[in-house]
Amino acid sequence: MLNRFVSLAVASVVSLSCLPLCARAQTGDDTLEAVATTAMIADVVRAVGGDRVEVRTIIAEGVDPHLYRATRSDMAAMRRADIIFYNGLHLEGKMTDALIAVARGKPVVAITQRIDEEALLYPDGNEGYADPHVWMDPARWALTIDVVLAELSALDPENESEYRARAGEVRAEFEALDSYAESALATIPDGSRVLVTAHDAFNYLADRYQLEVIGIQGISTESEASLATIGSIVDTLVDRRVPAVFVETTVTDRNVKSLIAGAESRGHTVSVGGELFSDAMGPAGTYEGTYVGMIDHNITTIVRALGGSAPEGGMNGRLHGAE
Ligand SMILES: [Zn+2]
Repeated sequence: MLNRFVSLAVASVVSLSCLPLCARAQTGDDTLEAVATTAMIADVVRAVGGDRVEVRTIIAEGVDPHLYRATRSDMAAMRRADIIFYNGLHLEGKMTDALIAVARGKPVVAITQRIDEEALLYPDGNEGYADPHVWMDPARWALTIDVVLAELSALDPENESEYRARAGEVRAEFEALDSYAESALATIPDGSRVLVTAHDAFNYLADRYQLEVIGIQGISTESEASLATIGSIVDTLVDRRVPAVFVETTVTDRNVKSLIAGAESRGHTVSVGGELFSDAMGPAGTYEGTYVGMIDHNITTIVRALGGSAPEGGMNGRLHGAE
């Protein structure tokens, strides 16, 4: 609802008064300034915008977007920017007021807006809200490319053909990532297709590639896992002989440790299958600090830990630790 409020507010501004105002000021500097809330969004904007768009990311690597509040310098950056892209679907739940505050006179765009209602997931326990972690599925995330293309072209129509060409390249990369994920994940044996993670960020991945997913902490990291939840996940690990559980870069691994200890006390050894990127990417300037690298890392780590086969270096041979 809040997201809808932001987009309605923006829509009315755009239709009533913004069209002439929103056209880029001819200051002699041709670069558009964009702000993106998460690095996954910034990556798409950068890929489509190329050197015509300067992108600033608000939520840094390793930081949890569910709990993030805009700082004074974020507000200043958003006020300065030509355009702001955010995820929506309540991912940035604590930034809604900040986004509404800056949504005057410039486009503030939910990048997930073209994902059909039917393609969204509404997991139990999320109070009827859609799961915001859509970037986990490259096919759904590819729909954000068109949103970025349309918005950049509207601000800077002169260079539309350039944006369109780059959008095509990005789409091809995402398609390659989707094919790799599909074939690699298909090698995990049937009994082991259970993905246990610190919080419930992997539903779209599981939905696309037929995995079962169990998040210890729910969709948002705001709520704590109960002892009963930990107990029932331990039951699943022991009953199904699940070989590995995963930790996340943005979430405490305390709960994961309780699971491993719980299973161990019942005679089943579970290992940590590796660290997954859930709500943030790896360090800027590394392969894992790109959207494709982030998802490649996750897929490759999951496949190898759950008994499937995937090259150590991932789809492009570029993952850390690769020869
Ligand atoms: Zn999350």
